[in-house]
Amino acid sequence: MDKFFDKFYYGGDYNPNQFPKEIWYEDMRLFKLAGVNIVTLPVFSWASLQPSENEYDFSWLDEIFDLVEQNGIDICLATSTAAQPAWMSKRYPEVCPVDENGVRVKHGWRVNFCPNSEVYRHFASKLAGKLAEHYKDRKSIKVWHIGNEYGPVCYCDTCAGKFREWLKKKYKTIENLNKAWNLQFWGHTVYDWDEVLPPSNIAGGKIVHQARALDYFRFMNDSVLECYLLEKEEIRKHTPNIPITTNLMGTYKPLDYFKWAKEMDIVSWDSYPRANDPMSNIAMRHDLMRGLKEGQSFMLMEQTPSQQNWQAYNSLKKPGIMRLWSYQAIAHGADTVMFFQMRRSHGGCEKFHGALIAHVGHENTRVFRECAELGAELPKLKEIIGSRVKAKAAILFDWENWHALELSSGPSKDLKYVPEINRYHSAFYNNNVTVDVINPSFDLSKYDVVVAPVLYMVREGVAENIKEYVKNGGTFITTFFSGIVDENDYVTMKGYPGELRDLLGIWAEEIDPLFPEDKNGIVMQENDLGLSGEYECKLICDIIHSEGAKVLGVYKDNFYMGMPCLTVNEYGKGKAYYVATAPSAEFMDAFIKGICQQKNILPKYTFDKGIEFTERENEHGKYLFVLNHNTCEASIDLADDKFVDLLTSKEYSGKATLPKYGVLVLKKIN
Ligand SMILES: [Zn+2]
Repeated sequence: MDKFFDKFYYGGDYNPNQFPKEIWYEDMRLFKLAGVNIVTLPVFSWASLQPSENEYDFSWLDEIFDLVEQNGIDICLATSTAAQPAWMSKRYPEVCPVDENGVRVKHGWRVNFCPNSEVYRHFASKLAGKLAEHYKDRKSIKVWHIGNEYGPVCYCDTCAGKFREWLKKKYKTIENLNKAWNLQFWGHTVYDWDEVLPPSNIAGGKIVHQARALDYFRFMNDSVLECYLLEKEEIRKHTPNIPITTNLMGTYKPLDYFKWAKEMDIVSWDSYPRANDPMSNIAMRHDLMRGLKEGQSFMLMEQTPSQQNWQAYNSLKKPGIMRLWSYQAIAHGADTVMFFQMRRSHGGCEKFHGALIAHVGHENTRVFRECAELGAELPKLKEIIGSRVKAKAAILFDWENWHALELSSGPSKDLKYVPEINRYHSAFYNNNVTVDVINPSFDLSKYDVVVAPVLYMVREGVAENIKEYVKNGGTFITTFFSGIVDENDYVTMKGYPGELRDLLGIWAEEIDPLFPEDKNGIVMQENDLGLSGEYECKLICDIIHSEGAKVLGVYKDNFYMGMPCLTVNEYGKGKAYYVATAPSAEFMDAFIKGICQQKNILPKYTFDKGIEFTERENEHGKYLFVLNHNTCEASIDLADDKFVDLLTSKEYSGKATLPKYGVLVLKKIN
């Protein structure tokens, strides 16, 4: 399903129970002034909804429901289960998690529970069911919000026991487990299941047997997901037709969001970039969240209207930035713009987190004015709800690969997964070519270009999927340190890049990590990508031999000077490129431009630098999003195409100039 809402939702987390009642009425006045049409209730209120083990009290929430509904505002109903009440942790201490140093954590934080605790699971799913039963006839509920920013990790004895059950199911025999984890290494062979321990720091940690740590990550992901599913099951019993989500966190390592998305009706996520994050990195996270459900639009569940409180430096969003970044989310597939939070907390650690309503309590603030202006604009975007972002290029992103790569002891502590994803994503971004960020197991046939940065782990079926794609005419790019291990972190014994070796037509003999102060160079050879001269490269240099691939670039320095570092191999009707090192941004932009030019997927329009461009499409039409991230005017040349701006109704053709931080949402009219 592509369309869940019939209006463009604008609002966010609302915690009125932190304030006296007279303030609630003032909130309603201010919400209407700001164009708020949805609030998320009551994310962290378990202790108020269930004051003791056998007592539930929804009366205060009933009152808020009534008030919100009377004011024509819809509700995103949260199950409140992300922070258990203190009475529960006191009576059932096993609800609290054990950290990786073996310490039982005490009550006091949030998302502070053992995901395998039967007590937690019982009370959480029971509360979700009771809320669903109690509010099932309220038409104002448009979406369910289970938990909040899931992500507990636990090493307690309950989890250890459940881990062993999970392993038994997966491996059947202890012999299979010994083999899968290569426990011969350092003499760690086990003879009984109860000799198997979670990889806490007091039991060898994660590095010694990376296969064990990988399985623990998979197990923990499944355990946390089960908590979500138990609540979902209870909710479905009473409200089978209301979509269900939980708010994800972008490139959040502990959970495999591709597995989560299968269980969510609509993806929602919380976008909290640093004020100085490159724009392409923010775009990448949106593209990943959209990719989780193969391009279905998503909810921007949280962002801050102005500043955060938990970063090292919580800079303000400058005037115009909140609007611009909201439209950036929409440009990448968001169908809602929502904030944390509606009113700034009176106390507690989020008291300085930005909000629609500041501590001063009235509408005469810069942030409120900017929010109200955006709230007045967004209804104009109703027709784009459910439209799809058009992408002809894809980047493969794999949580298991991420864990495996960063668990690896060597080759370099500086080799991290997400920066390599961003290295490629930003090159597409700088050429204004839209990218889907998807799972390696997804259908690749609709893309002209597919990139798999550092595909260290090649899971079962992935090499076949990629080869099928290239055979049928696709262009594939992968990089250094790819095709190294299988899903148990067993190294390929057939020469790197293992299963991808025939596809790429190369053999990687050695892997040379560089010190941070060192660099090498790519000297371009004859090629049809329009690249010439020399480019800088750093981080890792694979020493490769061509086994049929054409050499497009060679190393400038070191004992492997003159050996290949950029190759292309013809495979079936397609091509497979190997980039054996981490090139400079200058190379990346030119290389990806050359590839996109060959595949004819560069946008037909021309842009000034700092203009971002995406396209969404549905049965009503084609919509171009043009965003000016510059602190000065900038232009797009729309050639002969004619458009109308949904925000201003102004018509555009030829050169369109945007002011600083300006936005156009252009519907094609010819
Ligand atoms: Zn536990």
